[in-house]
Amino acid sequence: MIPFLDLKNLNLRLSDEFKKAADLVLSNGQYILGNQVSSFENAFAEFCNSDHCIGVGSGLDALTILLEGYKTLGKLQTGDGIIVPANTFIATILAISKAGLVPVLVEPNQDTFNLCPTKVKEAISANTKAIMAVHLYGQMAPMNELKALAEQHHLLLFEDAAQAHGALIDGKKAGAWSDAAAFSFYPGKNLGALGDAGAITTSDAELNSIVRNYRNYGSEVKYVHTQKGVNSRLDELQAAFLSIKLKSLEADNGLRRAMAERYKKDIVNPLIHTPNHPANALSHVWHLYVIRCEQRDRLKLYLHQKGIETLIHYPIPPHKQAAFAELNHLQFPITEKIHNEVLSLPIYPGLSDSNQLKIIAALNAFE
Ligand SMILES: *Cc1c(COP(=O)(O)O)cnc(C)c1O
Repeated sequence: MIPFLDLKNLNLRLSDEFKKAADLVLSNGQYILGNQVSSFENAFAEFCNSDHCIGVGSGLDALTILLEGYKTLGKLQTGDGIIVPANTFIATILAISKAGLVPVLVEPNQDTFNLCPTKVKEAISANTKAIMAVHLYGQMAPMNELKALAEQHHLLLFEDAAQAHGALIDGKKAGAWSDAAAFSFYPGKNLGALGDAGAITTSDAELNSIVRNYRNYGSEVKYVHTQKGVNSRLDELQAAFLSIKLKSLEADNGLRRAMAERYKKDIVNPLIHTPNHPANALSHVWHLYVIRCEQRDRLKLYLHQKGIETLIHYPIPPHKQAAFAELNHLQFPITEKIHNEVLSLPIYPGLSDSNQLKIIAALNAFE
């Protein structure tokens, strides 16, 4: 079986370094918000061309906390509308709704799977206060255009960068294009921990100090609480592991790009649509390689029978989920078509050339 993702071997490459880091944390005796967290925060802020990075417990928490932070600052109010792509992962929508804000779902561009500036513009109403771009599958949303729209309409701009660590446009990384961005370090992400972890990046000094306290019971000085915060702190051990993995992120993203190029070049079956490759190759880090096929379910089964594991990102769009009954009446034909046709192929550092060739041969033989 060719696994969809071989995380174990990916992490075992770094086994010796991880063990040393764990020993260091053990001998330091400082387990919460210690040196490992602050040194990863500094390294990741610098990596993202952002002034600040605040480590939190997960990507979902990063999204929720950055929204809560802008509510605390008075820049967002309960009930404000946040424009968000209708085809995103559920966490983006959950965070908006958990923060008491209203997700305004907008159809994506069918070729990029990302927000389309024209459709965003049409969706802006008097209630709209922010745009949440999602760099889906690792490809950056059209940030120049979205930034111009946000400025023109006095909206806040955010990034859900959970799938796009290291992607860049015009020399500026994902996480540095907006008022604040959320990252996930879920193990399977391009930069993944050995457990749950996340971070917010921002160059807004006010937001930085608010969320830094919010993640820690709303407290800067111990037992003095200025906000009704939460407990969502980046773990000291996970921070140590992430600092190690950050060093190979660029190289790993390069391997993903080379694999994507090979899929693009060698998949020649007219029943299968390979994804759009952006003119600027650096703006995509290929967290996922997502093909489209009208007979997706049959293709998935066929590949499974050939020993190739694939996944669907995502089988059910947020507006069709039982958890969002209030959105179930909405119709988004592009989003629904995407959810019916997409299939994610294996793409990760450690996927061998010979296995990638097997996947390509199987796809080309599908009829
Ligand atoms: C993974 C992911 C999240 C949530 O991250 P967690 O760390 O699992 O909470 C949010 N948004 C997107 C687009 C993601 O892919």
